[in-house]
Amino acid sequence: MKCLVCGEELEVNICHGKKGRTAIMLSCRGDGRHFRAFINEPTVVEGMSELSLPLEQALALWRKRSE
Ligand SMILES: [Zn+2]
Repeated sequence: MKCLVCGEELEVNICHGKKGRTAIMLSCRGDGRHFRAFINEPTVVEGMSELSLPLEQALALWRKRSE
């Protein structure tokens, strides 16, 4: 996925919020002020943080489970 402002590829990170919540953060590689988004879907978060899957595979896992 690309930044909506400059077209740079987005960086994908696991972030730990308050109350021990984990989320996937997508942000612009060039400038974090451009674009920032979060995925809080539990299956996707688990796939990336606990199973160490890349984002694409974590999303595939969610699709498989929600069928
Ligand atoms: Zn950007």
